[in-house]
Amino acid sequence: MTHLSPDVLIIGGGINGICIARELAFRGVSVCVVEQSDLCSGASSASSKLLHGGIRYLEHGNLALVADACRERYFWVRNAPHIVSIQPFYIPVYARDIRKPWMVRIGLALYEWLSLGRRIGHNRMIDIDQAIRIEPSLNTTDLVGVAEYFDGKMDDSRLGIECAMQARSLGASFLTYSQVTAIDRHRKLVTVSSGSVERIITPKVILNTTGPWANLIAGRVHPSGGPIVQPTKGVHITTKPIVSSHALLISAQSDNRVIFVIPHDSYSLIGTTDTLYTGDPSHVQPTAEDIRYLINEVRRVSTVPLGVTDIYSAYAGLRPLAASQADSPAKMSRDHRLVAHGDQFYSMVGGKYTTCRSMAEEAAKVILSELRMPWFGSTKDLPLPPTVSFESTPVELRDEWISTVVQDQFVSTLDDVMRRRSQLFFTKGNGDDVAESIAARLAEALGRDSDWMDDQVATYRQKIAAMRSVIEAAF
Ligand SMILES: Cc1cc2nc3c(=O)[nH]c(=O)nc-3n(C[C@H](O)[C@H](O)[C@H](O)COP(=O)(O)OP(=O)(O)OC[C@H]3O[C@@H](n4cnc5c(N)ncnc54)[C@H](O)[C@@H]3O)c2cc1C
Repeated sequence: MTHLSPDVLIIGGGINGICIARELAFRGVSVCVVEQSDLCSGASSASSKLLHGGIRYLEHGNLALVADACRERYFWVRNAPHIVSIQPFYIPVYARDIRKPWMVRIGLALYEWLSLGRRIGHNRMIDIDQAIRIEPSLNTTDLVGVAEYFDGKMDDSRLGIECAMQARSLGASFLTYSQVTAIDRHRKLVTVSSGSVERIITPKVILNTTGPWANLIAGRVHPSGGPIVQPTKGVHITTKPIVSSHALLISAQSDNRVIFVIPHDSYSLIGTTDTLYTGDPSHVQPTAEDIRYLINEVRRVSTVPLGVTDIYSAYAGLRPLAASQADSPAKMSRDHRLVAHGDQFYSMVGGKYTTCRSMAEEAAKVILSELRMPWFGSTKDLPLPPTVSFESTPVELRDEWISTVVQDQFVSTLDDVMRRRSQLFFTKGNGDDVAESIAARLAEALGRDSDWMDDQVATYRQKIAAMRSVIEAAF
């Protein structure tokens, strides 16, 4: 049995655990992140892939969150331009929408003002004809106005993995496919299982960043402490391209929620739903009803017909929202909370992808003070070193690309590559045509045999088949 004793143990390798590790390693703290599956395999690869101020939170009066997110959005655009782009949005306003053109105009002015000198574009109402020229598939029946605004777009898991690579280069260590199975709070003794290997970790400080799983980890330490997160489920689908350059923000007719339609290279991303979730976080899945809801709302604003074969993928994730008394998921605060459980044990919950850096800074300040170490510098100006994407790699160099990600990017399975190191899962055919060749190359790079390879391909195909049957049930 191996024994590790870092200053800080972070449980959970989603974007929050990764970014806190990066903040700590940046300041010379020895930190180890333990992740039960692949890095970013939870909420951090199920997002709408936006680095945004969160325009809809203005309706809830959460101006501080929006201002913080607008500021952080600006840092991401500046520090990671290879992976974060400025995305123009249209807000089409229809006669029956609850949000009228004048409300949208005021909201956008406030949104721009809250960027406080760090704006990334100029928000305005635009001529309907101009909008139709740019996005000809917009349904014009009862269209009474169109607004334009700007937010950041990213590849969520790739951004998270690049942050992890940067944290590692600063000294952080990562154990993936390693689950925390027991915590002895008084002796600060954490048991971690990686398959048949067991490790004991004895850190000075423990940080729980398990997002939707946070109640389970906090409950091991404080069984009577009550829930600290209330997860809500969000479902996305990817479809054939239905917008070209501009994303759409639409008001759902059925419940007035906000839904995005976002252009990506070879697909459109549509989401999301927002429903309370109380099941096992590891088993969250989209339902036919979730998919139908998204398709019906998009059909109202887009003239592009969407048939069953036009839906490329569907996936679900859980927002790890800080537990609150709100009466509906949409009204639950997206603010984060750093919970001190005592005995140098903390949990970080809530927040947004966009604000992970400022959340991490807050957590790191508290931890450095626990460790009596000095605070210095800022990651606000730390550029993120780029990696090469699968999509931009020429076909003849893809074997080499796979070897590189295995060596550098914490890859252990075919699913890691298909969903979180490339966009293949989201595209037409879900990368089925290249799954076998990628698995073969992976097996070689990881020193695995052909049984392992066959099993990886079969498991991936089973998951895709199960997803397709849910998509078909939605029609
Ligand atoms: C549908 C949806 C859309 C979203 N859209 C956006 C958006 O567009 N922009 C934005 O800014 N934010 C968005 N968010 C919010 C953002 O994605 C989350 O706030 C963020 O990803 C949470 O990260 P996390 O690290 O806290 O949790 P996760 O990413 O869930 O990470 C927790 C990790 O802990 C691991 N873990 C659990 N138990 C154990 C254990 N016992 N041992 C070891 N590891 C364990 C899990 O495997 C998991 O990887 C969205 C969220 C959802 C769900």
